Amino acid sequence: MWRVVDDAAHDSADESADALSSENALTSEKGLWGLFAPDTDLSWQHEALCAQTDPEAFFPEKGGSTREAKKVCARCEVREQCLQWAIDHDERFGIWGGMSERERRRYKKARSQEQI
Ligand code: SF4
Repeated sequence: MWRVVDDAAHDSADESADALSSENALTSEKGLWGLFAPDTDLSWQHEALCAQTDPEAFFPEKGGSTREAKKVCARCEVREQCLQWAIDHDERFGIWGGMSERERRRYKKARSQEQI
């Protein structure tokens, strides 16, 4: 979660994307040929409180405690963005936005049923 943003790689990717879009008429606002949609804004990750803590707490062994990670998330200013990103990207492992994978699945399911 806190290592997803790599400014150097991101800048490089942006430059590559710019070069492609100016050279190739097949690119669109949806991304290259519409196959790879540009990702959402990840700038929120710069405010990720977990970046200042032990990353292992966010990826406990099966059956391990998630308490410490969730405590950090509870104080994190980008919790909503983090949770949304994890749900949007079907993140399977770790604590994101204060929720475990199982909690995110339930949350996503509950939200989809609300929309029916
Ligand atoms: S909500 Fe938790 S996992 Fe997400 S960025 Fe904040 S501290 Fe990290």
